[in-house]
This record gives sequence, C-alpha cells and structure tokens, in this order.
Amino acid sequence: MHLPTQTDIAIIGAGPHALTLATHLLQKRSQMQEKIVVLDPNGFWMHQWQRLFSMLEISHLRSPAIHQPDPNPYALRQFAKHRLDELFSPHDLPGAKLFQDFCQTLVYRWQLQQQVHRALVQRITPIMQDRPCLSIALAGGKSLVAQRVVLAMGGGMLNFPAWVNKVSTPYPKHRLCHSHEVDLRQLRLRGERILIVGGGLTSGHLAVGAIARGAEVQLLSRRRLLEKWFDADPNWLNSSDCQEFVAERDWEVRWEMIQQARNGGSMTPDMMAHLRQLQQTGKLTLHQRCQVVKAEWLGDRWQVRCQDGAVLECDRIWLATGTKLDVTQNPLLADVLEEFPTGIVNGLPILDDHLRWQGCNLFLMGGLAALQIGPTAHNLAGARLASDRIVAALTRSSLVKC
Ligand SMILES: Cc1cc2nc3c(=O)[nH]c(=O)nc-3n(C[C@H](O)[C@H](O)[C@H](O)COP(=O)(O)OP(=O)(O)OC[C@H]3O[C@@H](n4cnc5c(N)ncnc54)[C@H](O)[C@@H]3O)c2cc1C
Repeated sequence: MHLPTQTDIAIIGAGPHALTLATHLLQKRSQMQEKIVVLDPNGFWMHQWQRLFSMLEISHLRSPAIHQPDPNPYALRQFAKHRLDELFSPHDLPGAKLFQDFCQTLVYRWQLQQQVHRALVQRITPIMQDRPCLSIALAGGKSLVAQRVVLAMGGGMLNFPAWVNKVSTPYPKHRLCHSHEVDLRQLRLRGERILIVGGGLTSGHLAVGAIARGAEVQLLSRRRLLEKWFDADPNWLNSSDCQEFVAERDWEVRWEMIQQARNGGSMTPDMMAHLRQLQQTGKLTLHQRCQVVKAEWLGDRWQVRCQDGAVLECDRIWLATGTKLDVTQNPLLADVLEEFPTGIVNGLPILDDHLRWQGCNLFLMGGLAALQIGPTAHNLAGARLASDRIVAALTRSSLVKC
C-alpha cells in the first residue's frame, strides 16, 4: 500500500507490543483504523518475534496463554480449544506455532494487514505545522508527519560485554556472535566446542540446540543459574510490591525495584532439568559464578581467560547477554531529546502516566516504559498495561489532528 505523507497515529514496530496496542485501540474506537500507519522494516506483523523463535527453535512461550495481544485475556485459550496439546504444562504456556497462528488471526480480524508499511525509521523530529507534530524520517529518504507517534520497537541494542571490544586478534565474524545472530537451523556443529556466555533462558535454548547438532557446550554465567518459571512474575502488578512501586515517586528507587523484581536472567525449571540431563551425558559443562576477562583468537580456535584464572578453549563463542535500553544512545530519539529534554534514569526516560514523552505526543511501549509500567514492561503482560494507558490518551477528543 502507498505510504501516506501525513497520518494521525504512527506506530513504529510491528511486534507483539504494537499489535496489542492496535487491537486495544480498535476495540475502543474501530473508526480509528484508517488513522493508523504502522512502520516496520520487515513489512509485516510479528516478523522479528517469529524469526527469533525459529532461529532458536523455541517450542513454547515462557508466559501463560492469558498474556497475548487480544483485549480479551481468554481469547488465546479459546483459540486453542482444539489444539490443547499445544498448551504446555504447568502454566498453559502457548506453543510457538499456536501463538503465531493466533496473532495472525488477530491481524485479519482487526484488518491490520494493510496497515504495515515496509520502512525503517531513522529519526523522529518535533515540528510545528498548524500544531505540534512529529516528522518521521525513513531510510531511503522518505518521511511522513504524524500527530501522535507510538514507539514499539522492542528490545534495544544488543549488549556486548566489555571484553568483546578488546579482542585484539582478527577473527571470522561467525566465530563470535550475539544470540540474536545465531540461527541454529543453518548450523552443523558436529565435533565443535561452543562457549555460551549468559545465564538466562536464551543461553539454555542455545545450549540445547548446539548439543542436538553434535557440539560440546560450556555454559558460563556470572552467577549461579537461577531457576524460576517467569523472568518477571506476570502477576507482579497485582501484588503488594506493585502498590509500593506505584506509590514510589522517586524514579531511582523505582529503577532499583525493577532490577530486584527481574533479578537478571533465569532458567525455567524444565530447561534446568534438561540442562542437568545434558550435563550428565558430558556434553554440557556449567561454569557458574564465572566471568570472562579476555578472549583471543588463535587462528583456529578461541582461548578465553576467566576471572578465576581458568583458561577455556572453544571453536565459537555465543553471547546470550541480552539487550540494552538507553534512550540517550538511540539516534532515532536525538532530536526529541534535544527539543524536549526529560529526566532519564539509567537510560530509561521519565514518562507521564500515559507513557508520553514530556512535552510532545510521543508514546513509548516496552522496556523503555518500565519506570511507569514496572518489571513486566517489555513482556507481553506489560504490552497490555501499556496499551491501556496509551489508548486512553489516543482516544481523547482533546487531541486534534494536525
Ligand atoms: C527469544 C525471546 C522469547 C521471548 N519470550 C517471551 C514470552 O514467552 N513471554 C513474554 O511475555 N515475553 C517474552 N519475550 C520478551 C518480549 O515479550 C519480546 O521481546 C517481544 O518480542 C517484545 O515485543 P515488542 O513488540 O516490544 O518487540 P519486537 O518483537 O522486537 O518487535 C519490535 C519491532 O520493531 C521493529 N523495529 C525496530 N527498529 C525499528 C525502526 N527503526 N523502524 C521501524 N521498525 C523498527 C522490528 O523490526 C520489530 O518487528 C521474549 C523475548 C525473546 C528475545
């Protein structure tokens, strides 16, 4: 479809957060459908999510079926009525294909397939037309003007440990990768030794996938592997911790509360059981409470030195070290930051109750909204909470079109 030069609402990103927002918005105001433009370099919904699940061969979600993009929390459960074998115990965790199929039905039901335009956003600039608007510059030189913009761009920048930049010997690119760059489906690893850095569920998926392809894996984590079902308890926002969080007006303290609630990466109990089995076969070695200080490419293999003096050798290093959110490092937001400087706590902006950037009609979803939404902000549970707040502002008649 032809990209308009003006729109009322532009949503940047076409992942589960954007889809949650769109369905919540249309449920409240179905006539707003024509006012939405969605921009994503992939050109269709859920591509990035689907890609990561396929690349890591993830069989099912970590969060229960109740957390999904439809406004009706039971919609996925109903959709799964004849596919109950795709709900994994003990928490009704949806299978990856079930979840993807369900999301596609939402795209069709809410007639959202035409809304997505293949476009990579490079910059958002506040401008004045009849009233304040935002100009969105796209790769390739095009641009459009939106009255309101919602940023639903997902995880942020890939996080690389400091020692990676200090590798002084040139090495083949595929020998040191971030987990987002590893496509298990493409790999044959028979006889290879792989070092996986990180203690979250992604490192578990990578270890299982690599061993299934004939590799031997060393999994190195900064602290003892932590076992819990959810990375942030989806019920957190119904708990007394939440009341404390909402009552807390010191943003730094809120940030600390988020860190404590998430408590870094963790493994699910079933992944942990799987890893223990692999450990017994000798295919997996766990190095816990261990940190890399230096890595050197010796021409045909890595030599890795750890803080405790251990020296490890391997053929590939995979970094399951997550992503980093920091608005000050995002070039897309540079003009907004300059025009409307706002408080920032460890990379997270202080937003208003509707998740709006102070001074302009830019709304943020996902991890960037964590100071308002709490520790589930980047998860599916957080997408619903964020949508409720943003939709309340977007449907307010006091906001007139530019
Ligand atoms: C492997 C994995 C499994 C996960 N499993 C779960 C789970 O089971 N349950 C749960 O609650 N959470 C889970 N999460 C956490 C979280 O829910 C997901 O990361 C989820 O994808 C976040 O949705 P999103 O829409 O914010 O981001 P994404 O799915 O990353 O979508 C963002 C979209 O923005 C687009 N985009 C990025 N930059 C630009 C730009 N400049 N211009 C235009 N578009 C852009 C991207 O192409 C992408 O399509 C998981 C995360 C990962 C990595």
